[in-house]
Amino acid sequence: MTKLLSGKAVSARIKEEMKEQVKALKENGIYPGLAVILVGDDPASKVYVRNKKLACEYIGINSFEHLLPDTTTQEELVKLIDKLNKDASVSGILCQLPLPEHIDEDAVINAIDPKKDVDAFHPVNVGKIMTGNYDFVPCTPAGVMELIKESGIDVAGKECVIVGRSNIVGKPMAMLLLHSNGTVTICHSKTRSLADKTRNADILIAAVGIPEFIKGDMVKPGAVVIDVGINRIAPKVLVGDVEFDAAQNVAAAITPVPGGVGPMTIAMLMKNTLKAAQINKTKNKAE
Ligand code: NAD
Repeated sequence: MTKLLSGKAVSARIKEEMKEQVKALKENGIYPGLAVILVGDDPASKVYVRNKKLACEYIGINSFEHLLPDTTTQEELVKLIDKLNKDASVSGILCQLPLPEHIDEDAVINAIDPKKDVDAFHPVNVGKIMTGNYDFVPCTPAGVMELIKESGIDVAGKECVIVGRSNIVGKPMAMLLLHSNGTVTICHSKTRSLADKTRNADILIAAVGIPEFIKGDMVKPGAVVIDVGINRIAPKVLVGDVEFDAAQNVAAAITPVPGGVGPMTIAMLMKNTLKAAQINKTKNKAE
């Protein structure tokens, strides 16, 4: 029978463990705190920011929200980041992407202190992911790795095929699988004979951003299928990048959307924030 890899259940378990870890840190005078910056009022971004705040509150992490108007200049944003870099009560800083067009994303990412870069987007942290000697693992790929572990599959020697090569998902995903000794193929919009590649995958990861792009006949029987995609096709309807009903008839294990990779991403963000709190020895604001 096909195993459903429930990120909702796994992330709930991880969050319970983290509650205990936060308690222990506080007993040692370390107070994890996450600063989240949102520029503008993109509805999807607002939902992500709210969920991150709720997760912080649940685990016992201080959460500092900075909701800025979309007229905010790049200079103002970088100034705020600079202030947060120096704030001893802030362990981690996250600037929700995408940013309004007049702001250069790279300039903003580069402004975050790499030791507080809980998204692991700063070039210093990207480089560390390449070498395998990293403090922060990018949240979505880290969540995917946890789910693969959960499926009982050992990545070593497996054919891993990733569809999508973004800096946020596809590329770091490839590195993490490689560090686990997978044989990795990265596919993208210019890849030829895509279905031949995906049908070869023991572990297939879809991060394309096109609703139900991966069809059932593109999946190898017995594969582990991880669907990173989140596509809103109607006001209250979310679907992934994989045609779930068809793929689940073929796969050995598969993630649902919603309730798969999404909740894992937030759990991994919390994990990175705890790590940052330890690295930066974060103090409580009240002190
Ligand atoms: P992106 O738009 O930056 O990248 C999409 C990738 O898909 C590109 O590399 C492109 O080459 C590839 N692609 C596009 N068309 C293709 C085609 N016809 N054939 C093969 N490859 C093709 O997107 P992203 O930021 O990597 O996000 C991908 C999806 O994952 C989106 O649905 C996004 O919402 C979702 N996402 C989910 C989470 C989560 O927490 N679950 C986190 C980040 C992104």
